[in-house]
Amino acid sequence: MTRPSPAEIVVDVAAIRHNVRRLREIVGPEVAMMTVVKADGYGHGLAAAAQAARDAGATWLGVATLEEARTVRATGDTGRLLCWLTVPGEDYRAVLEADVDVTAYSVAELDEIRAAAREVGVRARVQLKVDTGLSRGGSPAEDWPTLVAAARQAETDGDVVVTGVWSHLAASDDPLHPANDAQEKAFVAALAVAEEAGLRPEVRHLANSAAAILRPSARFDLVRCGIASYGLDPAPGETPADIGLVPAMTARARLALVKPVQAGDGVSYGHTWIADRATTVGLVPVGYADGVPRHGSNVAEVYAEGARRPIRGRVCMDQFVIDLGPSSAAGPGDEVVLFGTGACGEPTATDWAAAVGTINYEIVTRIGGRFARVTVDSEAVQDGDTEGGAGA
Ligand SMILES: *Cc1c(COP(=O)(O)O)cnc(C)c1O
Repeated sequence: MTRPSPAEIVVDVAAIRHNVRRLREIVGPEVAMMTVVKADGYGHGLAAAAQAARDAGATWLGVATLEEARTVRATGDTGRLLCWLTVPGEDYRAVLEADVDVTAYSVAELDEIRAAAREVGVRARVQLKVDTGLSRGGSPAEDWPTLVAAARQAETDGDVVVTGVWSHLAASDDPLHPANDAQEKAFVAALAVAEEAGLRPEVRHLANSAAAILRPSARFDLVRCGIASYGLDPAPGETPADIGLVPAMTARARLALVKPVQAGDGVSYGHTWIADRATTVGLVPVGYADGVPRHGSNVAEVYAEGARRPIRGRVCMDQFVIDLGPSSAAGPGDEVVLFGTGACGEPTATDWAAAVGTINYEIVTRIGGRFARVTVDSEAVQDGDTEGGAGA
């Protein structure tokens, strides 16, 4: 007999495959797909997300750190893989040996990569990132010619091959924002500088999910899709609903307790909610330590007993209280869905984000803690084809 988890995150890898396929259809066969699996696959599980993306035809995977790149390789993955965020003194040797593409923002970084490549006796696959206006990572425009020249020299010396030139957008979720045009122009200019210096990168790329969907001119050779691969809208209010992305993550729990409260009773810390009538409350055994936003206090909703139910009072570290209504027949052990696909009326991660004043990315990447993570495949044939529940 399997015992129910108090709380679990269910990840459907079939939804990830579906989304990656949809995104490939949207961008067309000329544009390569990179599925971004950083931050533990946006909270969905790095190994499961990576496998689902490859199964659905992602030529590339993307991660932030060297450690994430090593983790992808440790799953047995051998396809193209790019990482892009390091600090001075990091050890590039293992990822270079594992045929990972690394990113240089500066000559100093390029020099570290060259030194590591020599040590292990490989030609490093290096991509150069240019800052076209996000003012975050990447080479400033004024340093770009120097970086490009140094990279070309490193190629001539046999230490590296420059496989890509790329940049990142500041406002792709706002298609009419003037930064989009300006960054695209700056990127084209930077590509010309690289070309002029003799670089012939395999891939030139600029677009994340929102730009991949909303801005064909930003697609270049490859798009880097994170959030949309997990079925979440990268630009709520802007993304056409009919593109048919399916959220891959459902977060659910079992009620620990159900009990009546009377009109005038205060609920949870600080009594920030006082019952205005007699009602029934349910205790949900997860809280902000598990990534349930404390800002959801009194504003977010969950799905229980066939309808959306409001959170009452403060979300605590380990638990929170919901209002099941005066005539509730719910009992302890009943299921509560915090968020899911929305298909049954439950809130989505995007609904939670709207309620608490953040973006859906933050909801799914922070949920975790004491939730068990279970990976399922809704397309798998019966009989034990459900993929093993990798504990979160
Ligand atoms: C995280 C990230 C992405 C993916 O962005 P989404 O909006 O989730 O598609 C793409 N490129 C870079 C550089 C990133 O850091």
